[in-house]
Amino acid sequence: MPSAPILVTCGLPYANGPCHIGHLRTYVPADIFVRGLRKLGRDVAFICGSDAHGTPIVVNAESQGISPETLVARYHQHFDQAFKGMNVAFDYFGSTHNPSNFVRTQEMVTALMENGHVYPREIELAYCPSCQRFLPDRYVEGECPYCGKPARGDECDQGCGRHLEPGEIKNAVCKVCGGSADYRKQTHYFFKLSSFQDFLIDYLQTLGGTITARNYALEWVRQELKDWCITRNMSWGVPFPGHNELVVYVWVDAPIGYISFSEEWCEKSGRNWKAYWKDGARIIHFIGGDIVYHHCIFWPAMLKGSGYTLPSAVVASGMLKIDDRKFSKSRGYVIWVIDDYLEKGLHPDLLRYYLASYTSHTKEVNFAWKIFADKVNTELVGALGNFINRALTFTAKNFDGKVPNGEIDPEVLKKIEAVMQEMTSALEEYEFKKMCDGVMALADYGNIYFQSHEPWKLIKTDRESAGAVLRSCLQIAKALAVFMEPVMPSKMDAAGRQLGLPGPVGEMLFCEALAPMEEGADLGHPELLFSRMEEAQVKELDRVFKERIRQADAREKTKTEEKKLISYDQFQALDIRVGEILQAERIKGSNKLLKLMVSLGDETRQVVAGIATNYAPEDLAGRQIAVLANLEPAKLFGVESQAMILAADVDGAAVLLGPEKRVAPGSKVR
Ligand SMILES: [Zn+2]
Ligand SMILES: [Zn+2]
Repeated sequence: MPSAPILVTCGLPYANGPCHIGHLRTYVPADIFVRGLRKLGRDVAFICGSDAHGTPIVVNAESQGISPETLVARYHQHFDQAFKGMNVAFDYFGSTHNPSNFVRTQEMVTALMENGHVYPREIELAYCPSCQRFLPDRYVEGECPYCGKPARGDECDQGCGRHLEPGEIKNAVCKVCGGSADYRKQTHYFFKLSSFQDFLIDYLQTLGGTITARNYALEWVRQELKDWCITRNMSWGVPFPGHNELVVYVWVDAPIGYISFSEEWCEKSGRNWKAYWKDGARIIHFIGGDIVYHHCIFWPAMLKGSGYTLPSAVVASGMLKIDDRKFSKSRGYVIWVIDDYLEKGLHPDLLRYYLASYTSHTKEVNFAWKIFADKVNTELVGALGNFINRALTFTAKNFDGKVPNGEIDPEVLKKIEAVMQEMTSALEEYEFKKMCDGVMALADYGNIYFQSHEPWKLIKTDRESAGAVLRSCLQIAKALAVFMEPVMPSKMDAAGRQLGLPGPVGEMLFCEALAPMEEGADLGHPELLFSRMEEAQVKELDRVFKERIRQADAREKTKTEEKKLISYDQFQALDIRVGEILQAERIKGSNKLLKLMVSLGDETRQVVAGIATNYAPEDLAGRQIAVLANLEPAKLFGVESQAMILAADVDGAAVLLGPEKRVAPGSKVR
C-alpha cells in the first residue's frame, strides 16, 4: 500500500564541543525508530547535520585563536565519526554552514517578510564602548530582568531559565573585555510570533509525538506569545536579506537545515525534496527535551508563514543522569562517546541497548558503569546471547550444522507473532523500552522452551522430535535477530550470519521473522555474540570517570581560592592595631552584644562586639586585643561601633585574639 514518505530528523548537534552520551539519548532512539519503520516496509529518510552558527562558536573559536570555520569543520567531522561509530546511520549529515542552507534560509526569511510576518523595530541593545561593538547573545552577561539572577545575553541560565530577547538583559557586562556595557539604539527585525497564536493552539492539538512536548508547548502558547527578534549583529551566520551587517539568529537557520539537508540528499539520490517539504510528507522531529519551545512554537510558525509542510510529530527525549547526578560537563559528570566509550573498545550496540531499554523515552535515564555491566552480563550475555548460542551450538553438534527437519511448534509461531504486534505498537508510541522488553521476553521464552523440552535427552531416544524442538528454537533465534536489529544492528547482523539467513538482517522486514527456517539449510559457525564485562574492566572505566570528577572538583576549588586571594596592597589597606579594653558593659536588649571602650594609645574607641555569650564584661578590662581600626562606623542596637575586634570563630564561639606579651596600645599589626 503506497503511503506518504516519512522524514525523520534529529536535533542538530552544536559544532562546539565533543559528542557525549547525553546526545545519544536522542540520536540512538531516532535511529532505532527509523530502522523499525523500514522493517515495517515504510519509505523513510533519516536526516541530520551540524549546527554551525551562533555566538558560542565564535566566542570559543576566538578563545582558541582559530577561525569559526576551522572549529565547526572539526566538530562536524567529530560528530559524523561518533554517529557512525555508534551505528547511527543518517542518510545524510549536512552542516548549516553549507551554501544550500544560506539559500534556503534567505528564501524563507524573504517569504516571511513578503507575507507580512517580519517587521523592523528600533531597540536598545548592549554596546561595549571600549570594544566599540554591539554585544549579541553570549557576548554579554548581566542580570535577568525577570528573576534578577546572573544571566547570559540570550538565556537566564542560572535562574528562571527564560529565553532572553536582545536588549532585555540588565546591568550588561561585555564578555570580551569585562567592561560594563551601555545601551544604544539599533534597528532589528522581528518575527510576528504573536499573530500565530490561534494557529499554534489548533496545530499543537493535532501534533503527534510525545505528549510531554505537546503539553509543554501548549502551555506556553496559551499564555502571551512575544514577537521574536530574528537578527543579530555579527558576521558569522546567514546574512539577513538586504542587510549585510546583520545575520539571522541561529535558531532561524538551524531548523531550516532540516530542509536544506533534505534538498542536498535528494539532489544526490535523484529524488524530489518537495515531496518532503511541500507535498505533505510525514515529518517527525526527534529532539532533546530542552529544545521543545523552538521545535513546537517557532519552527511550525515559520513553516506556516512561508508555506512549507508542517511537522506531524515532535518526539522529545527525557534527560540523562550520570551516576545518579545531574549531567554536567564542568563538574565531570559526563561520558564522552569517542574517548570514554568507543576508544575503550566497547561495542556500540551495548550502549544502544542500554539507552533504549533503561526506561521510557520521555523519562530520565541514569547511566553508570556498574549498571551497564549488569545489563550486559544479565540481559545480553545471560539471556539473549545465551539462547541464540545454545540453539546454534546444539544444532551444529547434533545436526551437522544444518536446520533440522521437523514441524515448527505452532505455539512458537504464535508467540513470535504476538511479540511482533507488540513491537509494532511500541514503535508507533515511541516506546523503545517496550520494544526491547518484548524481544527480551521472547529470549526468556526461548531459554525456557529449550530447557523444558530437554533436546539433550530427546536426541538419544527420539531424534526426530529433538529436530523439531531445535528447528523451533532456531525460529525463535531468527525472530530475535530480526526484532532486535533496530536496537543492535551489527550484533544482530552477526546473529543472522550464524543462523545462515540469506541476506543482511538490516534489510529484512519484521514479518519475515515468521518465515520458517528452511529445513536442511546451512547454518553459519556459532560464536558467542556477547562477552561478559569483567570486574577489572568495569573498575577501570569507573576509575577514569571518577578521576574526571576529582579533577573538576579540584579545578572548582582552585577557582574559588583564586577568588579569595587579595593583593598585598589590599592587605595594607587594613589598619589592624593592638587595643586595650578599658571598660565593658552589656547592651540593653541584646544577650550577644557588649559595648567596649578600647584604647588605641592616643585615642579611645567605642566598639560593639558580639562576644557576650563567651565573655563576662567584668573579666575584660585590661585585656589586649586585635582591632580593625579603619572599618567604617556602624550602629548596632542603636549603639555606634567605631572599630571591630578580631576573634577566632570556634564552632560559632568567639575566642579573642591578643599579642603574645603586653605591648603599647595602638601598636600596628602587620
Ligand atoms: Zn531569570
Ligand atoms: Zn568589551
